[in-house]
Amino acid sequence: FPSARIAVVTGGNKGIGLEVCRQLARNGITVVLTARDETRGAAAVEELREQGLSDVMFHQLDITDASSIARLADFLKTRFGRLDILINNAAFGGVEYARDPADGSVTSEEELSGMDRDQRLEWLWRNTRETYDAAKKGLQTNYYGTKHVIEALLPLLQASSDGIIVNVSSDFGLLRLIKNEELKQELNKVEKLTEERLDEVLATYLRDFEAGEVEARGWPMGFSAYKVAKVAMNAYSRILARRHPELRINCAHPGYVSTDMTIHTGPLTPEEGAGNLVKVALLPEGGPTGAYFALGEEAAF
Ligand code: NDP
Repeated sequence: FPSARIAVVTGGNKGIGLEVCRQLARNGITVVLTARDETRGAAAVEELREQGLSDVMFHQLDITDASSIARLADFLKTRFGRLDILINNAAFGGVEYARDPADGSVTSEEELSGMDRDQRLEWLWRNTRETYDAAKKGLQTNYYGTKHVIEALLPLLQASSDGIIVNVSSDFGLLRLIKNEELKQELNKVEKLTEERLDEVLATYLRDFEAGEVEARGWPMGFSAYKVAKVAMNAYSRILARRHPELRINCAHPGYVSTDMTIHTGPLTPEEGAGNLVKVALLPEGGPTGAYFALGEEAAF
């Protein structure tokens, strides 16, 4: 088994995830770049290898597919016998786009070129709908998908001498976005919170969504499901960090970054956004766990 640290990055084919892979590899870490689409993932690995980053390999992973997760876990177990760093980066915007071409992009460079930031933001609002199906997919991907990846890879992280999980969060996942005071306090009392309760909270959210009561019930508005999923992910991270003091489990907000997810409206480059996550992943042994980092600095949930 190799002595270099081994990292897995989800959604590594583009955007912030691809840059995280590049920066980890530059730090001498063996990177398993994962993507749900083999062609897009293999192309990303090729790009990094051409830059001389030979210690990057591809493995397919769709975080919403149990058998895909199991295949990744088997591969890691056989090949390395452990995992040192898991970066849960993959996510879905939680909205339906007017068009969603097969290549995974929601727009084309051609279409965006010539548009300034305001026009792009307007494009985003005009072309997205918060449908029930998209909200459900948002929770399934961003919360349950990530949770299932963590559950499957946990034994391998425990086999590391310093297992690290970075859950890529967002300032869209901060507790202050929850208007329901009672729920906000409950989600903040992590010593009492359970995974079962989080399941109930998410089921209630979906029922309220279906009933058209997102606003009336005090749920976050605007990319609502995405925000709720990130709030839940943060709470789950904190529960897990308490349960597993042998690991370091933190959440990190990369900043507002120019990627496909934001239709390239963010002021930060993917490199800068990734840097804010890699900084957390590479904090020295004995560093914080159960914490939230924004732009690389520890902050309140
Ligand atoms: P992108 O949309 O550019 O990339 C998202 C990545 O997730 C893609 O690789 C995508 O794959 C992958 N993905 C989506 N669904 C799945 C799935 N089911 N299984 C595996 N992979 C999947 O987004 P960003 O790079 O901007 O976002 C990366 C992370 O940063 C996310 O967690 C996001 O929430 C977070 N973030 C981003 C901010 C920003 O301003 N950009 C701000 C705050 C947080 P595919 O190409 O196949 O669709």
